[in-house]
Amino acid sequence: MDILRTVDAMQSYADTARAAGDRIALVPTMGALHEGHLSLVSIAKEQADRVVVSIFVNPTQFGPDEDFDEYPRELKQDAEKLRQQGVDVIFAPTGEEMYPFSTNTQRADPLAWVTVDELDETLCGRYRDGHFRGVTTVVTKLFHACKPHVAIFGQKDAQQLAILRRMTDELLFDIEIVAGPIVREDDGLAMSSRNAYLSPEHRSQATVLFDAVSAAESAILRGEQEATPIVRAMQNELGKSGAADVQYAEVVDADTLTPVETLDPGQNVLAAVAVYFGDTRLIDNALVSVPTGTNHRPEMADDTADVATSR
Ligand code: AMP
Repeated sequence: MDILRTVDAMQSYADTARAAGDRIALVPTMGALHEGHLSLVSIAKEQADRVVVSIFVNPTQFGPDEDFDEYPRELKQDAEKLRQQGVDVIFAPTGEEMYPFSTNTQRADPLAWVTVDELDETLCGRYRDGHFRGVTTVVTKLFHACKPHVAIFGQKDAQQLAILRRMTDELLFDIEIVAGPIVREDDGLAMSSRNAYLSPEHRSQATVLFDAVSAAESAILRGEQEATPIVRAMQNELGKSGAADVQYAEVVDADTLTPVETLDPGQNVLAAVAVYFGDTRLIDNALVSVPTGTNHRPEMADDTADVATSR
């Protein structure tokens, strides 16, 4: 397994692989790898001949008051995990490589940005000004550096996934976007590099996020078609932890991310939450297909539940 540090080296590797007729899969990450990331690597291995994992803590997706400086950086441990998974290349560029024209190399201040309008204005976008612009910009750069045929992203970051799908389609990137299901701890908490910030007390209470999106999913699969009681069910679960400071609990269309008032049969919706425990912000969601009149039966509901929230 190679660890490549420069865009030049990465592009040469990709060119050689492409010339050999090999299909390249990219798994973009910010490191501090857990089973959620590794599940995306497994999907990548099924999808391609060569697997590239990028590890880059991208400054432009962190707000000025967010945790860029504290974000865990564990390249040595990450490399060992990826070696065991049979990854071909780690692309771990410096800030200077990714933002060569920035005068502020710590936080980056590029002139060229990639943005996806509207989809970045709901859910997390409403509270994390500029976050998705940072994501779409860095993913575009990673695509140009790694030249993948396919890129794998987690359903855990559902808004990011929807935005990147839209970016890829609208800007004609010849890259297939594949989503991996949310990987969870045994008690249901979605795996996240930020879970490490939680105190033991907050960690045990953080299961309310999964309880909330599960309650929403159950309500939808039982046939609830109005968003208000679904949101109330989520807030009710989140309220069971005294420490949870809820930023949002919403039901939105899974593709457009616009709020839904009345759910349409067959529509894919996201029940999504963002919650602070102390200074730590956690997100979770359930992707649910609204039952149609004909498949609204308990056994169908259970099948859909497995797909929507694999644990
Ligand atoms: P990050 O390192 O947080 O930027 O995440 C890198 C990729 O891993 C993104 O596509 C995330 O959506 C995905 N990811 C993070 N946590 C999970 C999880 N618990 N299950 C599945 N994918 C995840």
